[in-house]
Amino acid sequence: MNSEYYFEKEKKYHLGVYRRSPVVFVSGEGPYLFDLEGEKYLDFLAGIAVNVLGYSFPPLVKAIQEEAAKLLHTSNLFYTLPQIELAERLIKISGLSKAFFVNSGAEANEVAMKVARFYGRRKHKKRFKFISFERSFHGRTLLTLAATGQKKFHQDLEPLPLGIAYAKLNDLQSVLEILDDEVCAIIVEPVQGEGGVYPSSKEFLQGLRELCDREDILLIFDEVQCGMGRTGSFFAFQHFGVKPDLVTLAKGLGGGLPIGCCLLDEKVLPFLHPGDQGSTFGGNPVCARSACVVCDEVSKESFLKKVGEKGDYLKKELEGLQKKYPGLIKEVRGVGLMWGIEIPGRAKEAAQKLFESKVLVNACNDDVVRLLPPLIIEEEHIDLVVNALDKILATW
Ligand SMILES: *Cc1c(COP(=O)(O)O)cnc(C)c1O
Repeated sequence: MNSEYYFEKEKKYHLGVYRRSPVVFVSGEGPYLFDLEGEKYLDFLAGIAVNVLGYSFPPLVKAIQEEAAKLLHTSNLFYTLPQIELAERLIKISGLSKAFFVNSGAEANEVAMKVARFYGRRKHKKRFKFISFERSFHGRTLLTLAATGQKKFHQDLEPLPLGIAYAKLNDLQSVLEILDDEVCAIIVEPVQGEGGVYPSSKEFLQGLRELCDREDILLIFDEVQCGMGRTGSFFAFQHFGVKPDLVTLAKGLGGGLPIGCCLLDEKVLPFLHPGDQGSTFGGNPVCARSACVVCDEVSKESFLKKVGEKGDYLKKELEGLQKKYPGLIKEVRGVGLMWGIEIPGRAKEAAQKLFESKVLVNACNDDVVRLLPPLIIEEEHIDLVVNALDKILATW
């Protein structure tokens, strides 16, 4: 059966909510994916920042196979080893106090926001509001959609949960303007992803930290996309040198298996009680074992240093492209191995052309080509992608 056969079958049986590229992937190796016809693609999207160790990373495959043969699932009514070992790793790396596991980024943010509500209600009685940011993305549940500062995601879903207002990233004054004494938390992506790759400034995050300390408001960093080594530090907050009270992880955490996590500062613990939160699958043995392997790899100093170096190289190459095509590329932005190339009104077309040259990227809106390669890429892979884009832009 060829790809066309499966396109038709999918159309017949699966809900048509995805705008998929016309390719069926069946295997992967390192930063490459292979389709049903055996064609090879260089992946600079990594399952949307998920496959941080690329495909078929042997220690990861082995750990998952072994754990799957031992124990798939028990529920959280019992203790299991991988979950405890993963919590220990994440707490030691982050310097936060406790970990709680779920299955996705949206769920991790739901947990963080519910913790903030508990803190606001139980400590300050009337506090329940959130400040979020324009262009942010926090997930697809109703609460995390409400926190998402992009109108297109709210269409026809109103009324969304109340009490969320949006400030402008890197504009502390805009936060002060909507702040009132009912705000329990500020939620921010240290590097906005879906919205078009907009990094926060260090000064801005420091400003939020000071504000939150002064008012006893919780600071939530959504690191679902920008965490797990992407910035060249394990956590994005370590890159910026600003410690949040709650941090969420998901995408890259399991290296390809679904697991999310909320890490919590000590200060919230007195306001949380047994029964406040739960998850059937959260932190299940196979996903948690996989995440342990990812944490061990990504937390190595040598690994993170290389991400930083490759990030510098990618930055230099993209800035070179921008100089070459100033009329087409408005800006290049990013940190580490998370980059946006702003090509106003033609980002989708650029992503489509790259796809035709067997390079996978994605377009945010129609303005930004987003690069989220596996963290194990080498300079040669960066050269391949930059050259492919160069060739496309040369014809425009
Ligand atoms: C992808 C993403 C989410 C949602 O994660 P899911 O696993 O799809 O629920 C939340 N926040 C950010 C910053 C993301 O990039």
